[in-house]
Amino acid sequence: MINFHPTQTQLIDFVEGNCASAMSLIISAHCDMCPQCRRSVDLLEARVSESAMEGYDDSVDFSSMLADITRLPAAESFSISRKEQTIELDGRQFKVPRALRRYVDKTGNFSHLLGNLWQAPVDLGPIGKANFIYMQKGGAVPEHTHRGNEMTLVIDGEFSDGISHYDTGDFILMNDQNTHAPHSEATEGCLVFSIVDAPLHFTSGVARLLNPFSHLFF
Ligand SMILES: [Zn+2]
Repeated sequence: MINFHPTQTQLIDFVEGNCASAMSLIISAHCDMCPQCRRSVDLLEARVSESAMEGYDDSVDFSSMLADITRLPAAESFSISRKEQTIELDGRQFKVPRALRRYVDKTGNFSHLLGNLWQAPVDLGPIGKANFIYMQKGGAVPEHTHRGNEMTLVIDGEFSDGISHYDTGDFILMNDQNTHAPHSEATEGCLVFSIVDAPLHFTSGVARLLNPFSHLFF
């Protein structure tokens, strides 16, 4: 069950187009998985377009405008092949939310990082870089804090980080005020999609030795 959603302010920024592109992408993918936020966004969009219509020249013939729009060719959503809607790891197929599908063919292969941790880089073009990170049962990212924002969407499974427990669809935003240590004890592990805008900073014990390699997580 989804427990962690974008805040109302973040949803308003999203609808009004005031979010950074990376944040927009994660919120959009979260809305694909979360009926509650999708409904909030629909309501906010209706409010935004209503206020945009206020004082609008009513000589414009909206019914003919609508007729023109509905005559346009149908959206191309059917051309997406089944293969592009999923990513594969170790013979398992993971369904990817609609907003992320266009990046499936820009996703590299999974490589083994450490412990039961796997990572596949995603080239988001001008938006930056993201990663699919898969924690097998027992897999853990060493405790770290952030130099910038870390935005995470749980694609499949569950994980904990010492702060909370997260489930499929949860949206998590961490910044330089948060230190956490993600790990999954779920039998089926956990796949997340994550964007960081600056390298992580590992904080505890032996993991500090990883700091020169923190760009691996970036
Ligand atoms: Zn939500």
